[in-house]
Amino acid sequence: MYTCPNCGKKFKAEEIESLRCTYCGSKILFKETPPVARKVSTD
Ligand SMILES: [Zn+2]
Repeated sequence: MYTCPNCGKKFKAEEIESLRCTYCGSKILFKETPPVARKVSTD
């Protein structure tokens, strides 16, 4: 999953052509990592 910081749209990797936002044309896309449930115990 990628997020465009310019327009805020989200894309799947297969929707992107040459790593470019298909809505605003921004070449900067953030790769969004799926949230990993981490259990942090502090004891
Ligand atoms: Zn965009």
